[in-house]
Amino acid sequence: MIQLQDVFKKYTTSTGHVVAVDNVSLSIQESEIYGIIGYSGAGKSSLIRLLNGLERPTAGSIQVNGKEVSNLSSKQMRQFRQKVSMIFQHFNLLWSRTVEENIAFPLEIAGVSKEERDTRVKELVALVGLEGREKAYPSQLSGGQKQRVGIARALANRPEVLLCDEATSALDPETTDQILDLLVTINKQLGLTIVLITHEMHVIQKICHRVAVMENGVVVEEGKVIDVFKNP
Ligand code: ADP
Ligand code: ADP
Repeated sequence: MIQLQDVFKKYTTSTGHVVAVDNVSLSIQESEIYGIIGYSGAGKSSLIRLLNGLERPTAGSIQVNGKEVSNLSSKQMRQFRQKVSMIFQHFNLLWSRTVEENIAFPLEIAGVSKEERDTRVKELVALVGLEGREKAYPSQLSGGQKQRVGIARALANRPEVLLCDEATSALDPETTDQILDLLVTINKQLGLTIVLITHEMHVIQKICHRVAVMENGVVVEEGKVIDVFKNP
């Protein structure tokens, strides 16, 4: 469902060039939980921003469901962002809006009617386990609850792919496990493809089916988690 072929991403800065993604080819299957792990600076964020169309590759091809991401018109890009949505390390919630307003926000942008929005928000609140917190503001929520809002908002327009950018890195170990359990539930219930980037081995070992290990922009190992991380 997601195909990267010979992808390069080079940034030009005042001091020269940085090759953040260096000849990466990967294929991610439908309904898979796919992890990308590496230290800071390995190129993970660049790769995930390429996948959601926030950055364009310097060279190479990125296809989602057979469509080349860098060839999308701005209208197609808006539709694409509904199909490929994202959650963030620092949640990126709207602080002046309540839980239900945050979740409804992408539905409002998509032009969904008030009645339909209300029904959908109710379903999403139940799915992520936030019943009773609908009227709360983000500042009144724990980190885990904030990420639940982020997940519900990301799922609002029924995406096919969920991209997770260090989604549990700001959470304590117990909350991390609860959020990872929720991602597994969503993957199973909705058949949603999940691509996550992380620097934490635990996250990969707990929920990923396959993994790519990145170093200096290069994928140095790739395959089933049990094969890549088995002890010799
Ligand atoms: P990671 O997410 O694994 O920490 P990044 O993709 O953020 O890796 O960074 C990979 C490399 O690209 C780093 O050397 C980083 O400094 C550089 N880089 C990332 N974004 C930019 C940018 N917008 N401009 C210039 N260099 C960047
Ligand atoms: P961190 O680098 O700490 O993990 P994030 O990944 O949450 O931070 O995002 C860094 C910044 O980039 C945030 O301020 C966020 O608003 C912005 N950003 C990243 N991805 C997107 C996106 N897909 N849409 C809108 N803003 C984004």
